[in-house]
Amino acid sequence: MSQIAANLAEVKKKIIASAERVGRDPAEIKLIAVTKTVGIPQMLEAIEAGVTAIGENRVQEINRKFPELHKPVEWHLIGHLQTNKVKYIIDKVALIHSLDSLSLAEEISKRARQAGKEMPVLVQVNVAEEESKHGLKLGETEAFIRNVANLDGLRISGLMTMAPLVEDPEEARPVFRRLRLLSEELRAKAIPGIELRYLSMGMTNDFEVAIEEGANLIRIGTAIFGARS
Ligand SMILES: *Cc1c(COP(=O)(O)O)cnc(C)c1O
Repeated sequence: MSQIAANLAEVKKKIIASAERVGRDPAEIKLIAVTKTVGIPQMLEAIEAGVTAIGENRVQEINRKFPELHKPVEWHLIGHLQTNKVKYIIDKVALIHSLDSLSLAEEISKRARQAGKEMPVLVQVNVAEEESKHGLKLGETEAFIRNVANLDGLRISGLMTMAPLVEDPEEARPVFRRLRLLSEELRAKAIPGIELRYLSMGMTNDFEVAIEEGANLIRIGTAIFGARS
């Protein structure tokens, strides 16, 4: 077995164990293999080993790799998206995880309508209010969602967060829990025009805790492909 296949098997084992610890069905958790800085051969290896969804954080990198890969995988845009770059990825990605402004929502809406599609998007929430991270504050999220809920061509499909980088993943637990609670609060309000199906949270260092707290999309790079140089 290749190193990537072995790493992937290890990650899948941990996904199953984490889900089972809290009585969740592991099948409801989708693994997104984060391939930023990873080359096409390694991506093909991962796909060969069972990866069906890949995540990139830069538009340029998606544009470069997309025409080269020739595989029926889902592409996820997980990083910050500049408004002027929406047009390059609107026909390529299955889900945008990083909606964080009204102007971006309007541009996604416009480009998706032009492309004749409805783009699912997640609202990025900066739960810990870190300066270095993008995303809305917890307290701004409901008003923002109500504002963009009725835009054509765009479908709010859940929430995403990045937890602070901490030594002990247990320290990230309150962040994940807070996002899940927000999702539940908003779902209870039955805001028309949106669906809060997805909680995108958890990376290499903290995905087991994120799954215990309700994540159903996890974004993992290092644990599959090794450390990025
Ligand atoms: C890089 C990245 C990941 C994956 O990080 P790892 O620690 O390598 O698993 C997840 N989400 C986002 C938004 C990223 O930029």
